[in-house]
Amino acid sequence: MRTDADQQLNDGPKIRKEKDIVAKMIRLYCKKKHRQKELCEECRNLNEYAMKRLSHCKFGEEKTACAKCPIHCYKPDYRQKIKGVMRFSGPWMLLYHPLESIRHIPIPNRLRKSISR
Ligand SMILES: [Zn+2]
Repeated sequence: MRTDADQQLNDGPKIRKEKDIVAKMIRLYCKKKHRQKELCEECRNLNEYAMKRLSHCKFGEEKTACAKCPIHCYKPDYRQKIKGVMRFSGPWMLLYHPLESIRHIPIPNRLRKSISR
């Protein structure tokens, strides 16, 4: 069930997928950089912020990559942080990305493990 407040937030497939990817990148970053099993407080905070920005992105389903967006909606300190995350996790996401798009196809566990480690 949805309230009116929910409906003003972006919830299309594109936004949802971006949220998913950003969340994965932050998780990966924290795991490898901060050596945390669960997101540390700083990363949890950043993650929440990023999700919020996506929910409120004025382009919604029309949005381009955030890096190319003319409106930098992140506050400077969050922007620095997310940049660091992208730089670090980006190369890993080249591995994730194709899988994301074929998620509904069964992937052998062995492969899935080697990629999502
Ligand atoms: Zn962290």
